[in-house]
Amino acid sequence: MFPLADDFNATSWNDLEPVARNLLERPVEDADDLESLFKDISDMAEHVSEAGAKLYIGMTCDTENEEKQSAFMSFVENVRPKMSEVSNKIDLKIAGLDFLGSLPERYDLILRSMQNSIEIFREENIPLSVECTRLSTEYQKITGAMTVEFDGMERTMPQMRKFLESNDRDIRRLAWTKIRERRMVDSERISEIMDDLVRIRHNIAINSGFENYVDYAFRSMERFDYTPKDCLAFHEAVEIHCMPLIHSINEERRNGFEYDELMPWDVNEKSGDSPDIFGRPPLQPFEEVDDLVSITLKVFHSLSPELGEMFNRLIEGEVLDLDSRKGKAPGGYQYNLEKTGLPFIFMNASGQQGDVETMIHEAGHAFHTMYCSHHDLIQDRNYPIEFAEVASMSMELLTQPYWGEFYDSKETTDRARKMHLEAIIGLLAWICRIDAFQHWMYSNPNHTREERSKAWLDLRAKYGPKTNWNGFEEDEALFWQTQGHLFGAPFYYIEYGIAQLGALQIWMTQLDDPEKALNDYANAMKLGNTRTLPHLFESADIELSFDEGHIGNLVSSVRKSLSELSV
Ligand SMILES: [Zn+2]
Repeated sequence: MFPLADDFNATSWNDLEPVARNLLERPVEDADDLESLFKDISDMAEHVSEAGAKLYIGMTCDTENEEKQSAFMSFVENVRPKMSEVSNKIDLKIAGLDFLGSLPERYDLILRSMQNSIEIFREENIPLSVECTRLSTEYQKITGAMTVEFDGMERTMPQMRKFLESNDRDIRRLAWTKIRERRMVDSERISEIMDDLVRIRHNIAINSGFENYVDYAFRSMERFDYTPKDCLAFHEAVEIHCMPLIHSINEERRNGFEYDELMPWDVNEKSGDSPDIFGRPPLQPFEEVDDLVSITLKVFHSLSPELGEMFNRLIEGEVLDLDSRKGKAPGGYQYNLEKTGLPFIFMNASGQQGDVETMIHEAGHAFHTMYCSHHDLIQDRNYPIEFAEVASMSMELLTQPYWGEFYDSKETTDRARKMHLEAIIGLLAWICRIDAFQHWMYSNPNHTREERSKAWLDLRAKYGPKTNWNGFEEDEALFWQTQGHLFGAPFYYIEYGIAQLGALQIWMTQLDDPEKALNDYANAMKLGNTRTLPHLFESADIELSFDEGHIGNLVSSVRKSLSELSV
């Protein structure tokens, strides 16, 4: 039966059932039997993962295609719940063996993760998880279908971004207002979806014996190396060190623009970006998606021949879907095709500097995947998400010296670099705002919508830019609805912040010794999931720390680099 054939159909439970039965029923007498069981479990998991990946990719590339939508939902409803039951039974079978102590050390983390899943697994949570996936898929469908009529054309939300960057304040105001009006049409349903998600997730936590979903989420996400309290300390350090820098950047803009006050269409609420104070046109790093790909290839080749070669393999593997089309889900992601051995990259490019950063970011994930592809067990390749984002975010910073490939002058390149560094600080504030919001929502699961709005506005006062939302109070109170992670990937957000702290440290290494930075990067990424999070950080010669002074140092170094740029 093993290894399963390449064309094995893992979208069908009928095909999977005998495979699962074999894994469950076969005798496991000694460590050798157990090692081959681990290998075969991994084989099945690779097939199931790739089948799910392909259905998800199919759906997000074409959200209006009912067939693809229902194929994915059928997989979610029929295969995943059964797989989750089977893997719990396999975990229990393995946990009950009396010779686990004689397994080689390389299985320690796999066993820890298995023990953890057993402790939090409850059968009654399976249908609840399916319901959460259904609700977040509905959210995705609602937001993916949003378009507005603008400048004589129907446009998707990602396509509207360029008008928000316009130098003409009236165009920005008009575009921003149109987008907000469109979003408010669906805001009631989206609020209901969040009501349901909070209620269901709280029940999942209670069923598993936790006080609330915060504690459950930390355990189910295998956050063994930091606590909710560490996250709160992180939020505070960002408030202390990032907010003054953000306010001074915005004050410089307000003066530059000669405005009395900044409006929400002057400063991007999430990224902290704003149009150019000198009135220069928005950056145009490329026109066609093909150019984005070929220039990015050059950038990676300049940074390192090895990374250039790896990016080339992605191009040749035809695993890039990069342009923005109606009906395509928003955002960007990288999804591993575990069987094929390649990552798939999804994004909505429309010719902006942000697209360059997303391309490089997702390529960083792809490099991580490729660097650890030599591990034969899927569990050993499944790197922790905090470290996954170190791989992607440090690529954004490490490629900065080569961004000149996209632009024709040092001034323009410096402008792009300035925007990126400012956005890192802006994003840290947004990450902490979203994370603090989730901590609040799930610590107070019986909150009303009014209380939720108030909690959001309180956080906005701490972490938001000083822009004037008068006349748009309802939009302001519901702005969290634009953050998809809150729906589909609860608590998966602080990882970006933790990872940014790691990425900034690798970048600081590069400032002194570029070659060491690349070696540190590769060494750590090659470990995949075979070390704990603090150990992975150590392998890259960086520190996993939420210490206020440490974060203050990183922010100072961004401040210094900003002051050295020619714009
Ligand atoms: Zn990422």
